[in-house]
Amino acid sequence: MAESYRNFHRRSIEDREGFWREQAALIEWERPFERVLDYDRPPFARWFVGGRTNLCHNAVDRHLATRAAQPALIYVSTETGAERTYTYGELHAEVNRCAAMLQALGVGKGDRVLIYMPMIPEAVFAMLATVRLGAVHSVVFGGFASHSLAARIDDARPAVMITADAGMRMGKVIAYKPLVDEALRLAQQPPKNVVIFDRGLDKSMARVAGRDVDYAELRARHMDAQVPVTWLESNEPSYILYTSGTTGRPKGVQRDTGGHAVSLIASMKHIYCGEPGETYFATSDIGWVVGHSYIVYAPLLRGMASVMYEGVPVRPDAGIWWKLVEQYKVAVMFSAPTAIRVLKKHDPAYLKKYDLSSLKHLFLAGEPLDEPTARWIADALERPVIDHYWQTETGWSILASYPGVERTPLKFASPSFPAYGYDLRLLHETSGQEVGDEEKGVVAIVPPLPPGCLTTVWGDDDRFVQTYFTSFAGKQVYSTFDWGIRDRDGYYFILGRTDDVINVAGHRLGTREIEEAVCSHANVAEVAVVGVQDKLKGQVPLAFAVAKDPSGLTTPAARKAMEQEVFDIVDQHLGAIGRPAHVLFVTLLPKTRSGKVLRRSIQALAEGRDPGDLTTLDDPAAIEQIKSAIASVTT
Ligand code: ATP
Ligand code: MG
Repeated sequence: MAESYRNFHRRSIEDREGFWREQAALIEWERPFERVLDYDRPPFARWFVGGRTNLCHNAVDRHLATRAAQPALIYVSTETGAERTYTYGELHAEVNRCAAMLQALGVGKGDRVLIYMPMIPEAVFAMLATVRLGAVHSVVFGGFASHSLAARIDDARPAVMITADAGMRMGKVIAYKPLVDEALRLAQQPPKNVVIFDRGLDKSMARVAGRDVDYAELRARHMDAQVPVTWLESNEPSYILYTSGTTGRPKGVQRDTGGHAVSLIASMKHIYCGEPGETYFATSDIGWVVGHSYIVYAPLLRGMASVMYEGVPVRPDAGIWWKLVEQYKVAVMFSAPTAIRVLKKHDPAYLKKYDLSSLKHLFLAGEPLDEPTARWIADALERPVIDHYWQTETGWSILASYPGVERTPLKFASPSFPAYGYDLRLLHETSGQEVGDEEKGVVAIVPPLPPGCLTTVWGDDDRFVQTYFTSFAGKQVYSTFDWGIRDRDGYYFILGRTDDVINVAGHRLGTREIEEAVCSHANVAEVAVVGVQDKLKGQVPLAFAVAKDPSGLTTPAARKAMEQEVFDIVDQHLGAIGRPAHVLFVTLLPKTRSGKVLRRSIQALAEGRDPGDLTTLDDPAAIEQIKSAIASVTT
């Protein structure tokens, strides 16, 4: 009989070493490890000590014997019209070429390679080539402004940087090279060489003689390259990646090698149920953790084909993703609530147009998944929609259902249970004591963190300990900085960030609870609620809503009427205490490039303060809309 998820989880905590030794057999080791876990220096955990392996070997070379002619990377760009499938054999050849190119530019073990690329296959080749050489990649989301890029250059001090002439979004060319040039001017320690993949999108691109190298020219010199993999001790770093910057200055997460590989391949088996030879489609970007883990490493480690998509979900129309599901027989899909809310503004008929019979389930993560959105997509797809919760820091799920172990029933708006390997607790924010069922607590993890989680903050062990392990006096536990609650059936719910809780006349309310209520209005597509200082009540909630159909909201009277409807709904759900002071209508919310609402900036503006670090802001127009909406009620 199959093991229950409960028992699986229990075993992962009570017999950590036995459990992870078993999972470690899913990858190939050049030299076996001597110890499963070294936890002699808490909270620093070292997994699979002494074992030597290589990510690129496991993601690519390992599959050549059995699936050289099978698809590995399926590239689709609705921006340029490019569509190409690379088999494992072709991927191997490209990665070897790229590794030889990097080697020729002096990159070796431990060196950093900064990758600032749009969603093109060369970005994946560059990532895999870097880890093949035992070097460390730092992928920076393409299109980030020069000063964000410069800060990441200075943090990583790369030997080489790889970029492209331009990215594309909604048919518009976004030139990267001027941003790169400016970032290199700002950086304290710029790399000696910049490799540029010329897509031919920016005809006016300038090159710096002696520094800039053309990808195609260099590649042509290494067509038959065979670069042996550099074996790394399991704990040697594989990459650096920054958190989204939703709550402040992004943190540079450092990932190891062996634990990273084991955690991802295990998650593919137990959580996503992705089988070798099947197709996986994560709609993220390689600049984010979801892209690292589930566009690149996990599908390839598992011998699957991975769809890499450049484009938006609604161009040429809102059926494009489902068309790809049909065409490439996608078995498992991974997206974000923010994308589903975009689709929700369009006709659900787009989901019925294509044959989705290959699709087993859709996973969503990145933000709280509200019940109306979850229902909408689950009804339209007629497939399980599985919410799961994780962070850049952990690299894979903290809370999830794991249908590969047991098909547990799903509850809307719940990411189910603690993932195996996580000794998860809900702690009272001040006493640090465990809270009971149906009581709010901070989601915390008793260390050691399982394999795959950050091993430290790049170059700053103190920041790692200080940031994550000092929230509760007298206890060294990892804080996620998110609120959670567990119901009597053991299902968890994420209530939002610890800094998103507001205090209205002595009542503590999560902004997420109010948002859930506002969202149940039929004409609300999206909403952000923040707490604003108030002389009388301490704080009052303020709501910024995006209407599904704004056409009826052109007059102040119409907006007032809808505001009143929202008030009534909130009164019904939470009582008048949760009622926002105002519901202000905007057409877009300020979000990070990864699609998360920047509540801290909205709150700061509403309180007349500086909006803070906006380096990860997607569209500056959104901030302007917030400003004018606020002005409309304060003047
Ligand atoms: P920063 O740490 O720089 O402020 P960030 O926390 O947004 O940015 P990420 O690592 O991209 O950076 O996001 C992780 C966070 O996203 C989680 O801590 C949680 O707040 C939220 N999150 C992720 N998945 C879910 C989910 N399924 N439900 C609710 N919230 C989620
Ligand atoms: Mg975070």
